[in-house]
Amino acid sequence: MPERCIECGCCIGGCATANLKPDFIGAAGINRVARFMVDPRDKRSELEYFEVVGSEDGVFGCIGLMACDDNCPIGVPLRGQLAFVRRKMAAVGWKMR
Ligand code: SF4
Ligand code: SF4
Repeated sequence: MPERCIECGCCIGGCATANLKPDFIGAAGINRVARFMVDPRDKRSELEYFEVVGSEDGVFGCIGLMACDDNCPIGVPLRGQLAFVRRKMAAVGWKMR
């Protein structure tokens, strides 16, 4: 489950983008945003989330090879979480900032 991330950093350590770009948010960060997006207690709008992850340092920097998903020791579904955020951004026509 996404909310069970233990912040070990294994997904970041195996990520080519994170190793090349120190400001890349990484799969754990994008997963955290996805978790808040589905939390009914969180009143922020989708656009407010996209301001954080809708950039070259966020979702648009991800090259999609899914080492993060392979490396997570507790099976956080990072592949699905990244795809979820991408779909939500595409649905509103979000362009890279
Ligand atoms: S899919 Fe690849 S580039 Fe994207 S966050 Fe995962 S490991 Fe990094
Ligand atoms: S590898 Fe999994 S548990 Fe570790 S920080 Fe990444 S998402 Fe969280």
